[in-house]
Amino acid sequence: MPGIATVPGRYAFRVVIAAGWTEIGDRVFVRRYAFYNQNIGVVLARDAALVIDTRTTYPQAREILDDLRELTSAPVEVVVDSHGHYDHAFGNAVFRPATIWGHVGCGPFMARTGDSRRLQLVAELPDLATELREVVVDPPDRTFEERAVVDVGDRQVELRYLGRGHTDHDAVVLVPGTGVLFAGDLLEGGAVPSFGDSYPLEWPATVDRLMPLVERIAVPGHGDPGGPDWVAEQAAALYAVADLGRRVAVGDLGLDEALASNPYQGFPAENIRRPIRRAAAQARCELRRARTA
Ligand SMILES: [Zn+2]
Repeated sequence: MPGIATVPGRYAFRVVIAAGWTEIGDRVFVRRYAFYNQNIGVVLARDAALVIDTRTTYPQAREILDDLRELTSAPVEVVVDSHGHYDHAFGNAVFRPATIWGHVGCGPFMARTGDSRRLQLVAELPDLATELREVVVDPPDRTFEERAVVDVGDRQVELRYLGRGHTDHDAVVLVPGTGVLFAGDLLEGGAVPSFGDSYPLEWPATVDRLMPLVERIAVPGHGDPGGPDWVAEQAAALYAVADLGRRVAVGDLGLDEALASNPYQGFPAENIRRPIRRAAAQARCELRRARTA
């Protein structure tokens, strides 16, 4: 089929997502969108499809649906929001009447932050202002606390909550029998992860719990997927940020010294300052709720 790439060697550990859909497991696909370098996941069943994350605007969400027609004519019966950030959940309404799943904390987060974030974005992303104005925040209608098994046509996926990390409600999607795990923004390829709503001191342990679930490949919310070794590297970097934050919090290190030994060398200092500051804030028990980066 045009626009579909199958990973060489049929389902390798480390893949570079090609243009169009890439099949990374049996009827499990990822498509990379240039906007935010974002990954959208799809699991196909015989007469139904599941989509993971819905992007920022309705036109972006409709683009997923249009692109999906390259793979199937089956309806999207299930959507999973990996978390409630706008780039993962503002397209939700376009997928109705699909059932939308998310962690039990996802709806409250969206209710608390969605509209204020949307208005901020109208100013921050003027090119998308018109599209953002039409977005109605539409939280998941099916939720879970620790684990859920979700039917999609003739197959199932498993949702897991592994603890606080990128947010307080990150859902991980496992596709049994394929070795594929969708990690949402708990993992990020080729960039400094986004710490704006994060719990930096807890995030590394959450990724530790994720690690044994990565049988073959983990798909991050943004950037290239990787295998278990790559996930271990991500955890190590998150531990380093937590450690630097703790040391800054007690005055053992200055922020500039912490920046000099940060684990994300090569990225702009500004991108690192915030994670370390937020880790230090959590160490001082001064984390503000409801930051929405
Ligand atoms: Zn996010």
